[in-house]
Parts: sequence; C-alpha cells; structure tokens
Amino acid sequence: MGEQCIFCKIIAKETTADIAYEDDLVVAFHDINPQAPLHLLVVPKEHIPSLNDVTEAHAKIMGHIPVVAKEITKKNGLAEDGWRLVINCGPDAKQTVFHLHAHILGGRPMSGHMA
Ligand code: AMP
Ligand code: ZN
Repeated sequence: MGEQCIFCKIIAKETTADIAYEDDLVVAFHDINPQAPLHLLVVPKEHIPSLNDVTEAHAKIMGHIPVVAKEITKKNGLAEDGWRLVINCGPDAKQTVFHLHAHILGGRPMSGHMA
C-alpha cells in the first residue's frame, strides 16, 4: 500500500534503512536526521496515514508501539534517564511523512515538557 510512501518502501525493503527491530506488526529504524543521540522511528507495517485515521481496529498495533519503544530504549540503557515517545499529526505538529510513526527520542535532556 502507498506506492509513493517512503516508509512503505522501507517496510517492503525497496529502500534501505538502519533497521533496529522488526516483527509482524512494526518496524523500527534510525531517523535519517537524528534530533537526539538516540532517535528511532517505530512504524506500523500497515499504512495508516496519521493519528487522524486511527480507529479501534488499530488498538493492537497502537498498543504495541510503546512496548517496542520500551524494549529499544531499555536495550540502549535509557530506562533510568528517560526518553520521549512522540507522534506528530498534521501540519501544526509538522508531520512530514504521512505514514504514522512514533519518534523515540533519548540520550539527552529534552528542552521542554512538550514542544
Ligand atoms: P514527522 O515530522 O513526524 O513526519 O517525521 C518524519 C521523520 O522521518 C523525520 O524526522 C525524518 O528525518 C524522518 N525520515 C524521512 N525519511 C526517512 C528515511 N528514508 N529514513 C529514516 N528516516 C526518515
Ligand atoms: Zn506507507
């Protein structure tokens, strides 16, 4: 699905990415333009454009994303210092790739509580 979608291409292995984790529901890879020492994207294999498109049918996959993020951050030694999980939705949040993804950010203190 989503022939022009860069994340669908990564999932289909038509484009390379630095994949850190993969299972039947999600793939996690390093962001190409990291904003923190650890910056990965957790991406559902299903092409869901944004949080605006999420329904109860996505409950399993959406519940799985933070579990995968926890395992990745734990493996990278961030459990104690902490980390952030962010999903941008739409123009005000500056979403640029319209295939839903959660940013894992960690390895430095964040600058603010939210933005
Ligand atoms: P967002 O603003 O939430 O839509 O974030 C999209 C993110 O995807 C940005 O942080 C980009 O750096 C990242 N990104 C775009 N293309 C790629 C790619 N081919 N591989 C890895 N990360 C990417
Ligand atoms: Zn896609």
